[in-house]
Amino acid sequence: MLRRASFVAFLFLLFLPPAQCPAQETQRYVRYELDGEVSWGRLLGEEIQPIQGDLFQDFRLLSTRVELDRVRLLAPVNPSKVIAVGLNYQSHLGSRAPAEYPGLFAKYPTSIVGPEAPIVRPPESRNLHYEGEMVIVIGRRAKSVPVAGAREYVFGVTAGNDISERDWQSADLQWFRAKGSDSFGPVGPILVTGLDHNDLLLETRVNGEVRQSERTRDLIFDVEEIVSYVSRYVTLYPGDIIFTGTPGSTQAMEPGDVVEVELEGVGILRNTIVQGGNLPD
Ligand code: MG
Repeated sequence: MLRRASFVAFLFLLFLPPAQCPAQETQRYVRYELDGEVSWGRLLGEEIQPIQGDLFQDFRLLSTRVELDRVRLLAPVNPSKVIAVGLNYQSHLGSRAPAEYPGLFAKYPTSIVGPEAPIVRPPESRNLHYEGEMVIVIGRRAKSVPVAGAREYVFGVTAGNDISERDWQSADLQWFRAKGSDSFGPVGPILVTGLDHNDLLLETRVNGEVRQSERTRDLIFDVEEIVSYVSRYVTLYPGDIIFTGTPGSTQAMEPGDVVEVELEGVGILRNTIVQGGNLPD
C-alpha cells in the first residue's frame, strides 16, 4: 500500500509544472511621471503599457499605450530599504584579500534618484566618487533563504551608482552621509527581469570616457549568495534593492560632469553632478 502511494506521489511530482519564477521571463519595466501622476509600466519598444496596481504584488496591464518621450522616467524602484555590498570585485580590492563574507552597509531610500536626475554635491564635499554597480531588486519576502533557492526571490536587476564621498567615508564614524546623502543613489533607467545577472557587462563612463568595465561574473559574492546572506539578518521585502559592489578604481567628479553607468540588457543610467548650495544664514 505504502509502495503504491509512493509511486503515485512519484508520478505526481513527475508531471508537476516547474515552479513559477518571475525572473525567468525577460520583461522591461519603468516607473514614470506623466502630468503629475506616478505610474509603473511595461516598456514595449518606444511605448509604455501602463500598469494598474503594485508591480511587486497584484497588478493588471492596461490596454492603453503611452509614448516613452512624453514621460519623465523615475527610478524603477521604490524600496523600503537600500542595502549595499562593499569590496565585492577583486579589481576594486587590489592586493587586499577578499573577505570571508559580504561586507554590508545601508543607504537610504531618500538617496535614490532616477535617470537624468541631478547628483547634488553637498557644499562641503570635495571628494565625490562614482561607483557603477548592478542593483538587485527583490520580488518576494525573503527571510533566511538558502543560497540554492535565492534566485526565486530576485525580481530583476537594474543599474546603480553608489555615490561615495571618500573623505567622509574615511573620517566619519559610519557612512551615514558618505554613502547615504540625498541623491547618492541613482538607479535605472529600467528594471529588467530574466537576465543572466551573474554575467552582464557593467561599464561606467565620465564625460564619455570609460572609467570602469567588468562583467558581473567577477563578483566575489554572486547575487544568490548576497540575497541569502542579507536575509539571514534582515527581512527583505518586495521592491527592496541591493547594490552589489563596484569594480576597478574610482575617481572624484566635479560639478558639470556627466556620469553614465551602463548595464548590459538594462541600458544607460545617466546623471549630472551639480553643486549644492549653502544653507541660508
Ligand atoms: Mg559600492
